[in-house]
Amino acid sequence: MHNFKHYSTLLVCFLLALFFGQPMLSQNTDGKICRSEEQMELLYQANPSSRAEQRILSRLVNSSEEIQRRDPGASYVIPVVFHVFGTTFNSGTVVNDALIKDALMKTNEDFHGLNAKYSTIAPPFDVIKTPLDVTFRLAQLDPQGNPTSGIMYYPEAGGMGNYDSPVVAQVAWDNSKYMNVYITRDLYNDGDYYNSGVAWLPDTYMTNNNTARVVYNGSYLGTNTDDNFRSILTHEFGHFLDLHHTFRGGICNNNPLDGDEVADTPSHINNSSGTNCQVIYNCLNQQINNENFMDYTDCYKMFTRGQVDRMVNALDNSPARNTLWTASNLAATGLDVELGPRIIASNSFFEERYLNDGVVESVIELMATEANFALAAGEYEEGLHYIANNVPVGMTMKISASNSTRAIVALEGISENHQAINTVSDLEIVFLDPMIEGGVSLLYADTLSNLVVNFSDVYTEACQPTIGYSGYTYISNVTFDGRSNETINNYFSDYTEELSYPVIPGATYPLSVTTNRGDGGDPDNLRIQVWIDWNSNFVFEDSELVASQAYNNRETDGDGDYTYTTDIQIPADVDLGKIAIRVMAHFVMGTDGDTACSYIDSGEVEDYGLNILDESTELTVEFSGNPKAVNFSEPVSFADLSIPDAGDSISSWLWTFEGASTPTSTDQNPKNIFYTEGGEFDVTLEVTTTNGKVGTLTKPDYIKSELRYCETSPDYGSYFSVNNVILEDISHNPGKSNYYDYFDSVTTDLAAGMTYPMTITSELGDGGINDYNRVKVWADWNYDSEFSESELLIDRLVSGEDYDENGNYTFTADILVPYGASVGKRVALRVIGHYEDGFTGPCGSFDSGNAIDYGIDIVSGVSGITALATSSSEEFSFTEPLVFTDRSSSSSAITNWEWTFEGGTPASFAGQNPPEITYDEPGIYSYSLTVTNAEGETGSYTGSV
Ligand SMILES: [Zn+2]
Repeated sequence: MHNFKHYSTLLVCFLLALFFGQPMLSQNTDGKICRSEEQMELLYQANPSSRAEQRILSRLVNSSEEIQRRDPGASYVIPVVFHVFGTTFNSGTVVNDALIKDALMKTNEDFHGLNAKYSTIAPPFDVIKTPLDVTFRLAQLDPQGNPTSGIMYYPEAGGMGNYDSPVVAQVAWDNSKYMNVYITRDLYNDGDYYNSGVAWLPDTYMTNNNTARVVYNGSYLGTNTDDNFRSILTHEFGHFLDLHHTFRGGICNNNPLDGDEVADTPSHINNSSGTNCQVIYNCLNQQINNENFMDYTDCYKMFTRGQVDRMVNALDNSPARNTLWTASNLAATGLDVELGPRIIASNSFFEERYLNDGVVESVIELMATEANFALAAGEYEEGLHYIANNVPVGMTMKISASNSTRAIVALEGISENHQAINTVSDLEIVFLDPMIEGGVSLLYADTLSNLVVNFSDVYTEACQPTIGYSGYTYISNVTFDGRSNETINNYFSDYTEELSYPVIPGATYPLSVTTNRGDGGDPDNLRIQVWIDWNSNFVFEDSELVASQAYNNRETDGDGDYTYTTDIQIPADVDLGKIAIRVMAHFVMGTDGDTACSYIDSGEVEDYGLNILDESTELTVEFSGNPKAVNFSEPVSFADLSIPDAGDSISSWLWTFEGASTPTSTDQNPKNIFYTEGGEFDVTLEVTTTNGKVGTLTKPDYIKSELRYCETSPDYGSYFSVNNVILEDISHNPGKSNYYDYFDSVTTDLAAGMTYPMTITSELGDGGINDYNRVKVWADWNYDSEFSESELLIDRLVSGEDYDENGNYTFTADILVPYGASVGKRVALRVIGHYEDGFTGPCGSFDSGNAIDYGIDIVSGVSGITALATSSSEEFSFTEPLVFTDRSSSSSAITNWEWTFEGGTPASFAGQNPPEITYDEPGIYSYSLTVTNAEGETGSYTGSV
C-alpha cells in the first residue's frame, strides 16, 4: 500500500495509547497541534519591529487608560472571507458552504458562551469564564463591491501555514477590511495532512502585506471532526485576537507577564492534551484551566476574563484589527444591511491558462440569491439579457444557464494582447431585465463591476512541480549521450545550468533514466516521463512529451532499480541555443503527472539542459561540475561537455583540480573528487582530438568547499529535550524542541588522546512516562564535515523510571578524543535528544526532541593508547541484556582487547565486540576493558552498571 507510512505512524501512536494508557501525541490520531508560537518567531525574524509592536500592545491591556476606556457592553462584528483550496479532505470529508457556515456559527457560540459545555466548567474557572460579544460573519460584498458568498474556492494547494507562503497574499482580500481564513489540507506543504491549524497574532506588518491570517485544515472544520476538536478553529481565532497558548514558554510561575501574559490563567509547562479532562495541577499546586480554548485539551469550553480583556484590547487598539469592525467597514463589506435579491459571483477573476497563449479557461459562476434567472438551460444573449463591457480584444463573453439560480460566465477566443500589462481590471457585466425574473430593479445591484482578467508575461523559467512525499520512487541516474548524473532523492532538482548537454539538430542521442523504488511497495504502478521544451517558451506543452514509460515496482531489479532507455531525436529545424529537458518519475495516482507541472503524490523531477549547437561549430571546450558547493566529504562529479569539429572526435582529457585530494584526472567524466579544505578552487580541462587539435578551458573559483554539517531537526516540539550539557568549558542550557547551532558561540578546547566526562540532562517535557527516548552524541573528530558511525560517542536509552520528580534525567558518560583527531581544527559536537521512533542518525528529521551543535577546538597531539568502553544503559532491568561498546583510541593500531564483566554472563571476553551480557540478579557491577596496541602499549578502563 502506497501511503503505508502514514497508516503505520498512526498505528504506532494508537498502540502506544492502548498499551500505556498515556499516548505521546494523543491528538495525532485526530490532528496535530498548532504551531502559532513558532510561526510568530518567523515573523519576528522577517520583521524585528513586530516584536516591539506585540510587546506594546500587550502592555496596553492593563494600562489605566485602557481599563477606563473599556466598554464591557461593546459588541464587534468581523467580516470574514474563507479561501478554500481543494474540497476533499482527510477520510473523504468535504468542505462546502454549508459546512463552513456551521463551523463559523459554532465558533461564534464558543466566543459568546453559548456552547452546551459552558455550564459544566470546573469551579475555580466557572467564576471567571467570560463571553466576548464578537461575531465573525461571512462578508456579503467583496473588495470590488460585488455581492459575494464570502467563500472562495481554488484548486488544491498547500503551504499557507508557512510564514512566507507566496499563495497567501496572491488571493488575500484587503486585510484591513476582511479577516482572511485559508482552508487547506497540507498546512506546511510537506505532505503531512494532520496539522490542524495555525494563526498569527495582530501585526501591522502582516496586515499591510496582506498576510494576516488563520490557516486551518478542512478535515477539522465543524462536523468533519468531533465536537471538541472542531473548537481548534475557535483556538486559532483566539490567536488572531491576540491570545497566546496558556502553556506558552513552558514555564510555571506566578508572574502574570510570563507565559500567556494573562493573569487569571495559571501557567503550566505542558499542554493538557491526553489528560482526559481530569483535574490537573501545575508546579505551584494550582489547578490548571484545562478547559480553556487556548490550551490543547480534550475539553474546550471557555475563555477567561483576562483573555477577553486582552482580545478587546487588540480589537480596540491594534491597528491590525481595529479597522475591521468599524461601521464604515461593515457597510463596505455588506454587513450593515440585508442585501436582498442579488447576483453573487463565485470569484472576481479570470485567469489566462498556464500555456500563456491568450486563452482563458477559468470561468466565473453566477448564483442568483433570493432571485431567479430567466432561463433554466441554454445560452443568454448579449444585448438582450446582458451587456459585457471592457472584454479583452479577441475574446467574447458567453453566459450559459446551468439552472434557474446558476449560470456560467466564460471568455471565449484568444486575447490579442496577453502580456501582464494587458490585464483587464474593469470588466463589467450589466444584467438587463429579461435575464432576471421580475426584472433587475429587484436586485441589490444590476452590475458586477471591476472583474479582472489576469494575463501573464512570457515566462523566464519553467514551472516547479509540487511533490507530496519523498522516498517512494526517485530518479537515481540520468544518462544522456553517455554522460551520466547519479542523484539522490530531493524532490525537484534543476540542472539546466550545470548539465546542459551539447546536441546538433537532426541527430539522435540515447537517453536512459534509472529510478529506484525506495520504500515503494510491490504493487505500486509508476511512470517515467520526459518533456523537451523545443520552442523554448519555458512551458512543457503536452506536444513536447517525448517519452512516457509505465512500469511496476515488480519490474525493478534486486537493488530496486528500473532503467528505461530511449532515443531522443533532435528536430532538424529546432532553434539554436539552450533549452530544458524535464524528467519526471512518479507514483501513478489520479491525474498526477498528467502535465509537466502537475502535483505528484510521490516521486521526483529533474530538469536538464540541451545546448543546441550549429553543426559547423569548431572545437568547443565545455564542462560542468556537480555540486559546485560542497562540504569536505561530498564528492563532486565532473562532466565533459566539449564538442569537436564535424568528423573529428575527442581522444583524451586532462583535468586539473586545484585544492582537491585528487589533483588530476584523465577520465572523460571524473567522479568522486573531494575537497577536504575550505576555499574556492579553479578547475581546468584540456582536451585533445584525434586530428590533433587541443583546447583548454579554466573556470576560476569554480568549486567552493566549506566545513558544513548536515541539517537535522525534530518534526514535533515539546516532548523530550536535552536541557543541559556539561563538557569541560561548556556548561550550557540549550534551546528545546528544535535545532540550535552554537558551533561558533559555545565551545571548549579538548586534547587528542584525553578522556573527558560529559554530563547531560534531559527532560520528559510533554512526553508520556512510558515513552522511550534516546540521547546521542557525535563529534567530527577527523574534520571531514560528517558525523560517521565511528564518531558516535554516546547512545543512551532514557526510559520512564530514569526521571526524577521534576521530569529530569541526568547522566555522565566519558568521551575520548581519539589520538588521530584533527589537532588545530574546530569540529562540531552534535547532541540529539529524541523520541525513539526508529533509527535517528545525525542527519535529517526525527520524531521529536532537540538537536544541538557545539564547537570543539582540538588541541595538542600526543601518542599512546587510552581504553574506553560504554554500556547501552546505566540502570537496567537485570532481565535485559546489556550492550558494551569499545570506544578506545590509540596512535597505532589496537591489536588486543580483554573484557571482564563482574556478575555477567559471559564473565569475560577477548575481542573488540563482546556479545550481549546478561545478569542474573540486580546489583551494581563493574566491568573492565584492557587494550594493547602494535607498539605494545596498554590502556585500561573500568566502569560500572
Ligand atoms: Zn495554537
